[in-house]
Amino acid sequence: GVPVRDVLVADASRRTKAVNAYVSGLGPTRRVVVYDTLLREATPAEVTSVVAHELGHAKDRDVWVGTLTGALGAAAAVVALYLIGSWAPLLRLAGVDSVAEPRAVPLLIALVTVVGLVAAPVQALVSRRVEARADAH
Ligand SMILES: [Zn+2]
Repeated sequence: GVPVRDVLVADASRRTKAVNAYVSGLGPTRRVVVYDTLLREATPAEVTSVVAHELGHAKDRDVWVGTLTGALGAAAAVVALYLIGSWAPLLRLAGVDSVAEPRAVPLLIALVTVVGLVAAPVQALVSRRVEARADAH
């Protein structure tokens, strides 16, 4: 009951031994891609389970939501960087007049590191929930 346009087999064995599959595309271009390594290494029941998981992602529109979330997250990151990079007390603390100065690079690295440390558990939580939902499908 999950509409997909194509089921494709990727010639992944040329570059990896990993077994994998994924769903990609939006709307009528949706497709399930199965690695040839999965078809060769896994039992038919395991392949069925993996494909069912991927169809769960398609059913729940995870590609669409992930693409939109990623785009909005990138836009929010740019806005946040602009606002933080314009915050005078932080610039004074870093000893720079502008975030565009080369001397501001350590400040930018520190900001990206802190944001990454804070965001990683949230991203992991969301990802695990999405994967568990696809597993349940
Ligand atoms: Zn998944």
